[in-house]
Amino acid sequence: MLNRQKFSSFILLLLVFAIIVGMIGCKSAETMSNSDEMMADAQQDTIIALPVPAAAYGSTPIDQEKGYLVEELGEGLYYVTEGMYHMMFLTTGKGVIVVDAPPTIGDKVLSAIAEVTDETITHVIYSHSHGDHIAAASMYPADAVYIAHEETAIRLSSQEGGSRLAPFGAFLGGSPVPEPTVTFTDSYTLEVGTQKLELSYRGVNHIPGNIYIYAPKQKVLMFIDVIFPGWVPFKYLAITENVPGYIAAHDEVLTFDFETLISGHLTRLGTRADVETQKEYMNDLVGNAAHALQTVDFMAVAGRTGWANPWLLFDTYLNEVADMCTDSTVAKWSDKLGGVDIFTPGHCWKMAEMLRVD
Ligand SMILES: [Zn+2]
Repeated sequence: MLNRQKFSSFILLLLVFAIIVGMIGCKSAETMSNSDEMMADAQQDTIIALPVPAAAYGSTPIDQEKGYLVEELGEGLYYVTEGMYHMMFLTTGKGVIVVDAPPTIGDKVLSAIAEVTDETITHVIYSHSHGDHIAAASMYPADAVYIAHEETAIRLSSQEGGSRLAPFGAFLGGSPVPEPTVTFTDSYTLEVGTQKLELSYRGVNHIPGNIYIYAPKQKVLMFIDVIFPGWVPFKYLAITENVPGYIAAHDEVLTFDFETLISGHLTRLGTRADVETQKEYMNDLVGNAAHALQTVDFMAVAGRTGWANPWLLFDTYLNEVADMCTDSTVAKWSDKLGGVDIFTPGHCWKMAEMLRVD
């Protein structure tokens, strides 16, 4: 908080300095008006946040001409990223297995595959049903084998019949994806040519149907939208539909014998240490949200808001709980993870709600 305030003051000082210099140099009313406009533009464009720790970023730069990075993680297993999303594929000697199809990477996935093999895509796995991870899957061969958890198949079937409120993948582009041709309940082993993947479902975490995809030979685990290496999770605990399941998944991830984690997002791959770090951040959120719920005085808040507008009362109370939790969490984590100041308020709000009602 303090750093942010200091940084804000510094920027304000710079702006004031710029205005003074502009005023001194100004020889006409027209110039003066231009300087005012520039100041207004600067104020509008400047969005300030705490610095991001260097450890949040990966060491391999992404070729901006190509727009993606493809990197082998061992024995024919590759991951692809455009800097925000991750997917993976494996060459098997008998066709390519792909996992996910983020529309932000789009057909660059096909370019990445063509860079390393002539094999055609024979198997497609969906990590879960969210469009931002699979809505480009219609680019894959229609006659490939499509594999997903049964819950993912149920959710995807709702894209048929016009029951969706907006087109599938409406925000990031994309279109309805091929329906899974193979589904499973608890686990499924896929063996193709030289490769083996162990798929498993261990209860609701990010959303129902979000699976663990484990490559034992390479000791690579792909598990999407739960762990965010180097960063705090995406807003509101990565929009999880089940907070206790989301928290429990941190321990579940660590039961796999993996060395590299493909987590679906942001600037680098993950390690076991990243999972341990995020687990500690989550434990702090639980503790700090619980403490705030026990500390902020609901009746004192009611004394200030009155009872006539219950939404004003609850909103004020819950925001004060979230603020107290946020202050203690940010104080510890601001120099350890990226985006702590951005998303901790939302995490605290959601965690407090879970503790209050779940
Ligand atoms: Zn998701």
